[in-house]
Amino acid sequence: MLMERERTEITAYLKMLITHGLTKGTGGNISVYNQALKYMAVSPSGMDYFKLSPEDIVVMDLDGNIIDGNRKPSSEYEMHSIFYRERDDILSVVHAHSPYASVLACLNWSIEPCTYLIGSAGKDVRCTKYETFGSPELAASALKGMEGRYAVLLGNHGLLAGGTDLATAFDTAEEIEFCAEIYYKCKAAGNPVLLSDNQMDIVLEKFKTYGVQPEVD
Ligand SMILES: [Zn+2]
Repeated sequence: MLMERERTEITAYLKMLITHGLTKGTGGNISVYNQALKYMAVSPSGMDYFKLSPEDIVVMDLDGNIIDGNRKPSSEYEMHSIFYRERDDILSVVHAHSPYASVLACLNWSIEPCTYLIGSAGKDVRCTKYETFGSPELAASALKGMEGRYAVLLGNHGLLAGGTDLATAFDTAEEIEFCAEIYYKCKAAGNPVLLSDNQMDIVLEKFKTYGVQPEVD
């Protein structure tokens, strides 16, 4: 099967969107890009994540043509492919309607750096203005909103995260949902003390090597 490894991985992570509390029902979508083939594997539209098999994941080229698979791809496929066309540091994209990120997105609030964990995405996470789901305008605005970052809030919609692989993109989505919850609760209680630009520079530098184990011979 074409891109079997990526399609299998996507079926596992779609279930995790639900079990990790990042989305409900069939909300959200996931893709993985194969640089050698120049194809992406993307979740199908509106299918129960617990009934999916790898064949249900759709393989597409970056112009929106279906290369393999009998299912209809996610209506947001353009919001995935635009990142693979425009950014070579993003090889997987995760989109979720996670609760706190969606609350902030509906307020059209960006996430300011109140917890250092926001460093998994950058110095802050911007929020874009509202665009219709599945539209090229949404894809373009997501790309711009994520410039120099690995996550963005989609205005009145939800969360988008990208990474060099699916595990990283998923972790970032989960981390930013947590940051959104902390930020929202801080704003409800008072005024969070924000980290400075310099403090965030140090965090970003440390994150480059965090979790990287030294090589042993
Ligand atoms: Zn959505």
